[in-house]
Amino acid sequence: MANVDMLWSGWGDPERAERLPDSVTGLLRELLGVHTEQLAQPVKLAEIEPPPARPVPGALEEVVGAEHVRADAETRIRHTRGKSTPDLLRIRAGDAGGAPDAVVLPGSHDEVAAVLARCAEHRVAVVPFGGGTSVVGGLAPEAGGFAAVVALDLRRLDRLVGLDSVSRTATLQPGLRAPHAERLLNEQGYTLGHFPQSFEWASIGGFAAARSSGQASAGYGRFDEMVTGLTLATPSGTLETGRAPKSAAGPDLRQLVLGSEGAFGVITDVTVRIRPLPETRVYEGWLFPSFSEGVTAVRALAQDGPLPTVLRLSDETETMIGLARPDELGEGNAAGGCLAVCGYEGTAAEVPGRREKARAVLTSLGGVYQGEEPGESWARGRFSAPYLRDALLDVGVLAETLETAGFWSNLPRLYDAVRLTLSRELPSSVVMCHVSHVYAAGASLYFTVVTAQGERPLERWRDAKAAVSDAIIEAGGTISHHHGVGVDHRDWYAREAGPLGVAALRAVKDRLDPEGIMNPGVLIPAE
Ligand SMILES: Cc1cc2nc3c(=O)[nH]c(=O)nc-3n(C[C@H](O)[C@H](O)[C@H](O)COP(=O)(O)OP(=O)(O)OC[C@H]3O[C@@H](n4cnc5c(N)ncnc54)[C@H](O)[C@@H]3O)c2cc1C
Repeated sequence: MANVDMLWSGWGDPERAERLPDSVTGLLRELLGVHTEQLAQPVKLAEIEPPPARPVPGALEEVVGAEHVRADAETRIRHTRGKSTPDLLRIRAGDAGGAPDAVVLPGSHDEVAAVLARCAEHRVAVVPFGGGTSVVGGLAPEAGGFAAVVALDLRRLDRLVGLDSVSRTATLQPGLRAPHAERLLNEQGYTLGHFPQSFEWASIGGFAAARSSGQASAGYGRFDEMVTGLTLATPSGTLETGRAPKSAAGPDLRQLVLGSEGAFGVITDVTVRIRPLPETRVYEGWLFPSFSEGVTAVRALAQDGPLPTVLRLSDETETMIGLARPDELGEGNAAGGCLAVCGYEGTAAEVPGRREKARAVLTSLGGVYQGEEPGESWARGRFSAPYLRDALLDVGVLAETLETAGFWSNLPRLYDAVRLTLSRELPSSVVMCHVSHVYAAGASLYFTVVTAQGERPLERWRDAKAAVSDAIIEAGGTISHHHGVGVDHRDWYAREAGPLGVAALRAVKDRLDPEGIMNPGVLIPAE
């Protein structure tokens, strides 16, 4: 493979595996009743036997070259499902059910288009595979009835196609991982400003396909807001969108491609707006007496400004445990309150004034300035929480996250509904939350739940997740603010979209993908 591979059984660079601080292990034992005999190490990669690979019809090696069609066990295992906690529990236990029959690595838009045409002709299901970080079953199609399943790994499509410094846009290929894309832009003095927690492994195509949102969304916007154009290769031909930054020429077809999660076709390039590299970056912490007072303050900034570039607010539990600052986990704030992190990025001339004005707002609404250390600590640890999840799994703890969004007026109801449901479904668990993304009209809530794995962790989580998904819809929230739909959220997405909405999506799919080979079962329920 061209790039370094992610740890097959967990997150990230195998060299950077984390060990839990003793303080945290002790806390967990006490809080969750985890016993050391429940240690749950993964099986060995060489011991996993994926189901026998079926021959893939259509002679795809004629299109991409024989070296770019792989059917060895390791490659298939590495392309089995994504990186949700249930995905990790299954693969750590040696379950590679649903592994693709082959992994195909196209090198151009034309190769992608030709592969899709051959797969449609031979009824081979296709799973577009970017960074492989989906947490919603976006890489786990329901592909019964197909001749074979291939994962279409896009890592060879990894170029910066062009940069328009006058318009401040860049066209990127979909298989570029975020750090690589960012490096290519930085070399020319620009940034994309998209830093989700999965930044180190996720791809440009995956961000577009799953409508990702980064930690600096207050300043740079969501990924879908950055996109000015996309190319989509479908089994029925190529769709090109984005002649102008904004247009009144009918419904915006970009929006049909954004969030389509591989169900309509394969995104083969993405044009995004870019920003000059910031001269200044500074992060700071604020403490609020309660979550509701903190929410009032971040709402004031979101509605009346000035808006920091990064703005997040942890609830009391997350602040106490210290997950707001993963590199100081277990050393959270014992004195109580809720920690907010505010970050400012921009020019040296502009940042101090914005920061000063925001400070005045936060102070007037009960915030107490904590200095830069809590903010800088958050920035240092911002990509390390997924490593902690692996360390927790190793000691018999299940840690999983879920997210939603709603209007400000409804946020307290949504927050209570999710917390109460999780606590009811998973007694003796710890449920934490932060406001992760803010808008003038509302915000996203991001929950982390930590519980002992105990007996049958997969089934327990599945039942709890179903109950909490019901609670989200009933409390007026969306089933996802940024993780997407996949297979896991599909039935709740259908409730959100309504029968006519689902029928309209199905009609689009029928037109673009008449044989239904594209990521079957993802996003759109079967009739
Ligand atoms: C630890 C962790 C932290 C995360 N943090 C965040 C976060 O902060 N913000 C956030 O938004 N998300 C987050 N996610 C979710 C995930 O990283 C995002 O959904 C991301 O956008 C997926 O990118 P990817 O390249 O890994 O896509 P993949 O997982 O490879 O694919 C995601 C979906 O898109 C489809 N797809 C991928 N590439 C293409 C393409 N080129 N054309 C068509 N379809 C395609 C796939 O078939 C799949 O359905 C996190 C996930 C993990 C595991």
